[in-house]
Parts: sequence; C-alpha cells; structure tokens
Amino acid sequence: MANTQLKPHAILFALPYQGHINPFVNLAIKLASKGFTITFVHFEFVHRMLSKSQHTNTNNVIDFFSEARNSGLDIRYSTINDGFPPEFDRLNNFDEFWTSLLQDFSARVDGFIGKILQSEQSMVSFLIADTFFSWPPTIAKKYNIVNVSFFTQPALVYSIGYHLDILRENGHYPLKENTVEEINYIPGVKSISTKEFMHFLKEGEIKTPQHEASTRAYQEVKKADFVLHNTVQELESEALYDLNKKQPNYAIGPISSFLTKITVSKSLWSESECTKWLESKPLNSVLYVSFGSFAQTNKHVIQEIAHGLVLSQVNFIWVVRENIVKLDCTNILPDGFKDEIGDKGLVIPWCNQNMVLSSLAVGGFLTHCGWNSTIESIWCSTPMICYPIEFDQPAVRKLVVDDWKVGINLHDGDLIHRDEVAEKIRILMTGVGSLGLKQEIEKLKNVLHKAIEKDGSSDRNFDQFVEDLKAKIY
Ligand code: UDP
Repeated sequence: MANTQLKPHAILFALPYQGHINPFVNLAIKLASKGFTITFVHFEFVHRMLSKSQHTNTNNVIDFFSEARNSGLDIRYSTINDGFPPEFDRLNNFDEFWTSLLQDFSARVDGFIGKILQSEQSMVSFLIADTFFSWPPTIAKKYNIVNVSFFTQPALVYSIGYHLDILRENGHYPLKENTVEEINYIPGVKSISTKEFMHFLKEGEIKTPQHEASTRAYQEVKKADFVLHNTVQELESEALYDLNKKQPNYAIGPISSFLTKITVSKSLWSESECTKWLESKPLNSVLYVSFGSFAQTNKHVIQEIAHGLVLSQVNFIWVVRENIVKLDCTNILPDGFKDEIGDKGLVIPWCNQNMVLSSLAVGGFLTHCGWNSTIESIWCSTPMICYPIEFDQPAVRKLVVDDWKVGINLHDGDLIHRDEVAEKIRILMTGVGSLGLKQEIEKLKNVLHKAIEKDGSSDRNFDQFVEDLKAKIY
C-alpha cells in the first residue's frame, strides 16, 4: 500500500527567460504554501544574472529563496549548468543555445534528477517543467515520476501549437509566407487569422532550432500527466474545455507576483527606482512603455516611438533595454531626446514593472503583448496600446484588442510612424474612446481577482490539481 505519510516533492525547471521565470517562482511559492517540498532549479547563468542584478558578488552562493524558507516554506534552491561558458551571449546566439538545449541538455537533467532522487528517498517526487522543454517525458519515464507541464502563455497559443497536425492537414502548417487566412477549425478556437500564429510556424522558419524545439515540445506535452496554465478559465473557457477532453488541464492563473508577500529576487537586470518620479505625477497621467525582456526591434521603431511620445505630450516611463534593438544598439534614441523630454519622461533600462503598473499615476501601457505583461496590466486595470513583435504576442494582441476590447492596435510591423504613435497615445490617455476600454478592463480585472479568491475558478482548479496529483503519486 502506498505510504501517504511521505512528503510530496516537486522539482521545478523554469525556462531561462524572465517571462517564464516569474510565473515559475510564483508557482513554487504557491505549491510550497500548500505543504509541498520544492526544489527550484535555475540555469547557472540565470543565477549569475540574478546575483548581478542584486549588486552582489557573483562568487557568493546566494539562495534566492531564503526569505521563503524563513517564512516556513520548504523550498530548496539549485542550479544546473547548460554547458556554455559564463560569457556566452545566449540571447544573441539564440540558435546555438537552443540547438544545445535540444541535443545535450537532457543528459545533464538526467544526471541532475538522478542525484536528487537518490538523496530524497523519503519523499515522493514529481517534475514540473516548462512546456517548451522537450525532455520531461523521457526523464519522467526513466525515473517513474509524474510529469507536470507548465504552460506560461495563453491557452489560445497552446491550442494552436497542440493542433499542428490538424493545421497541417488543412494546409496551414507550415504557414506560407505572405498568405493570410481566417480559420475556424482549431478545436476550442472560434476563429483566428493565420497572421496571429507564432512566427516559428512559417515556412521560412522550418529549419530553425526554435521551430524544432517548439514543435517537438507541443508533441511531447501530449505525454504529460497534467498541464498547468497561467490563465483564467473564464477568459479562455472554450480552449480549455476542449483541451480537457484530451488531458487534465488546469487554469490556475494569474500566477502573479502581486499575490505573494514573500520576496524572491526574479529580475535578471537591476531595477531603476521610479517611485518618487511617479509620485510627482497626477492620477492616470503616465504612459508606461515596455517591450518585455526578450523581444528585439530596430532603431527606426525606437526613434518613431520616441518622436511619438514627444508629440503626444504625455508623461511616460519607457523601458529601453540595452538589447532592445538587434545589431546596432548605439545611440538608438534621437539626438537631444532626453533634454527635450525633461521631467515629462523617464527612460530606464529595467524596472519593477508590477510596482510601476500599480502606481495610481499610470493610466496606460504601450506593450509588446507579452502574456505576463498583459495579465499584469489587466490586474491593475491599465488599458493597452498593442505592438506585438513575435512568438505568442500577435495571438495575445487578438485577445486584448479583438476579443476582450481592453486595448487598441498600433500599426503592425516596422512601418510604424510617429504621428500614429502620438495619436494612439492621445486616444488611450485622454480620448473619449478610452472610456469603453476602461469599463471593459475593470470587468476583466474583477474576473482575475475573483479567480484567485477562495472558491474562485483558479483557486478550485489549483486544489483539484493538488488532489489529482496526490491521487496519482500515492
Ligand atoms: N518586467 C519587469 N521589468 C521591466 C520589464 C518587464 O519586471 O522593466 C517583467 C514583467 O513584469 C513581466 C516579465 O518581465 O512579468 C516579462 O514577461 P512578458 O511575458 O510580458 O514578456 P516577455 O519578456 O516574455 O516577452
């Protein structure tokens, strides 16, 4: 008979990107607060970046979960090496990095998990890994442990990736360049234009490691015992309903930093201080501009946004990451820009976004439509101007603008012009048109807040997941 006295032990592997690390850390805390033991695994280079962003000596071993442990949670912290030297630039060598993740990383994980399991024989272990890793089914099978996949993007995007076979049968995968069609046969997805698809599904991307990694992951996830989603049932009920016919899927979002009182360092870059500046600005007068942690654009786009911000005459905080443009990243802002904006604008390399969005001074968000940013914006009732760049962002734009009506579009692609930027900013920040957006986003905000309250949909789904998991492991 199974020994139910043994403690459940979750080993968590996050993908090494900010938009994946954040929900994973929050999930770790949530699970630990339900009595689970957690081993949280970061890539070594992520550990180094986190240490640096905290201005600490990177040679010191810092345990980023010590505060959680001091609060009584059983979270251990560990790191894994990816085989590249510390100085290797994993963002600008994306293909090389992902080729290695596809080919060599699984052997490293295998050794790593084998060791943990040897030392933790008094526990029942299971794996929670990012859906974009393709090794979990093999490792879980080898060690006979439960395989939980965590998808950190919307269920809409998951549904597209999950149904590649149907898309292929209908001639929409690989996606031919420059063709756009509206399709309505993906189970759980009412209707979507192929221009909203993830870019790695395009014909020209078929040989890239990113295409291989993603499509393999969408195949492998079908072998997972459970799939967790950082979304809310009420927002994506049809997609989730259909997915649940195939596999146990649980919408447990928002898994957001807003919910945890425990501090765990998550920012890969140092956060600039903006509180004082925000406090000096009137209610809803500031536009927050950010393209997340990873997306890259070009100098033209940055310059048009800069001119558009000046023309709009609104206050703004703009996160201009050091790697925001590909290749030529010197002098990307127009000459004299910072003098011209004076105290009206703050240009910073990185910030505590949740803190900024929570400020009463912030009234709008010009965003690349990353899923975390979108959820955070809705959580704070901040309507959006959408400028999606790649990955899941075009599909998120569809949800935000077309389905939920809590944001407006900026011109697609590189043909962005300063006059349009200024016009859209004015519409969002001061226009009569923004009243409807504000009403809609208030409703969505309530849905999100209710979902995680006691007996809200995400709260119930999370408890159900824990129950189903325990039934499987004991
Ligand atoms: N973020 C932040 N400070 C910044 C910019 C972004 O803390 O200056 C956080 C943001 O709160 C979000 C994450 O980085 O949680 C970005 O994730 P998202 O899914 O929005 O976009 P991605 O970076 O994955 O494209």
